[in-house]
Amino acid sequence: MNNRRKFFKSLGLLSATALVGGLHPKNSLAKTKIKWKMVTSWPKNFPGLGAGAETLARYINKLSGGSLEVKVFGANELVPPLGVFDFVSSGGAEMGHSGAYYWKGKTEAAQFFSSVPFGMTAQEMNSWLYYGDGIKLWEEVYENFNLIPRPAGNTGVQMGGWFNKEILSVDDLQGLKMRIPGLGGEVLARAGGSPQQLPLAEVYTALQTGVIDATELVGPYNDLAQSIHSVAKYYYYPGWHEPGSTLETLINKDAWESLPPDLQEMIAVATRAINEDMLSEFTAKNNAALNVLIEEHGVELRAFPEDVISKLREISKGLVKESMQENDLSRRIYSSYMEFLESVENYHRISEQAFLEARADAPTN
Ligand code: CA
Repeated sequence: MNNRRKFFKSLGLLSATALVGGLHPKNSLAKTKIKWKMVTSWPKNFPGLGAGAETLARYINKLSGGSLEVKVFGANELVPPLGVFDFVSSGGAEMGHSGAYYWKGKTEAAQFFSSVPFGMTAQEMNSWLYYGDGIKLWEEVYENFNLIPRPAGNTGVQMGGWFNKEILSVDDLQGLKMRIPGLGGEVLARAGGSPQQLPLAEVYTALQTGVIDATELVGPYNDLAQSIHSVAKYYYYPGWHEPGSTLETLINKDAWESLPPDLQEMIAVATRAINEDMLSEFTAKNNAALNVLIEEHGVELRAFPEDVISKLREISKGLVKESMQENDLSRRIYSSYMEFLESVENYHRISEQAFLEARADAPTN
């Protein structure tokens, strides 16, 4: 009998089950059975973002050995898509999955934790969140709302959006009614457009009936599933307004504090896993979806003209700074983000950017 078996035998633990592979002790938490609700801003079965919320719940359910069971609710099942923040804040659900820029009405600073026009890409954003002060500052913002935030997905660089009017110059932005949330919407307003805040589920009808002329959504993989191509003609790039949007998990602080430390750690690790997983899924599926949109549905792909991009970039720079003067915390978030961006951009100029340019120029045959 080897030492390990002697040891277990001395404890009276060497049962037949243990001998046939049951030596792994059962999760000590398996007796606990906690049930949580996760409300989301996404229509039920929405690919990408909605699937991300479902995958996150599956990770938590499995990692916890069933101790913590999270049930996901699509938009409007328990609360409207933009009711997620308040509902989780007040404890109606223990968890939510959404995007922080929807909460600009609560505090302008929230937007910095999803995406900033002409700001950081997914890779840069994750670095700021995990290795800069990002998450710490985000927690400070949400603390006032009894919430704990965690990054929980990223779309990568989004598309500029769907248009029924061609954008040939800055003049074409005048009076443009476009569904575009957050800071991007404010930039458009300052460029002469008319931003609208609409939940995803209402976008199709709004375009079809001409209530809006344009909408930004996500990228080809998500947008194809929404069939937006049947109510809009032009598909513009790049997504200047959302260069790497972080999705979020919101957790009610009282619910969080009631969990044992190992379940808290499981949730934290599961959110990191979904944060990576969603970006990989989008990266893997976007190009095939783009091909379907162009080849099968006749979508016309367009780049924003350079003068439009320059104008939007110039407006963004000033507006983003102005929007972050609300209080001392906003100013600290702005400084932290901008200093991080400047530093990472400096290095990326000679690494990511230089390489992508080098690769694009390489002969393909
Ligand atoms: Ca978007």
